[in-house]
Amino acid sequence: MKIRLNPDQELVNTVKAGLAARGNHCPCVREMSDDTLCMCKQFREQIADPEFEGYCHCMLYYKEK
Ligand code: SF4
Repeated sequence: MKIRLNPDQELVNTVKAGLAARGNHCPCVREMSDDTLCMCKQFREQIADPEFEGYCHCMLYYKEK
């Protein structure tokens, strides 16, 4: 299992700017809670799922099996 950044540097910069503007909360969802702090609960659950391979919702990170 490996987590890597999206190779698209422009997208990475955009998402990171969005995170910075929201106190490290996910810029792709409207709600703000402990669950939306990056890495958000949704992606942490995807990381824990041995069957999951793919991007997080914002496409900042990619999980390889
Ligand atoms: S892990 Fe991805 S989807 Fe979750 S908050 Fe961070 S950038 Fe957004």
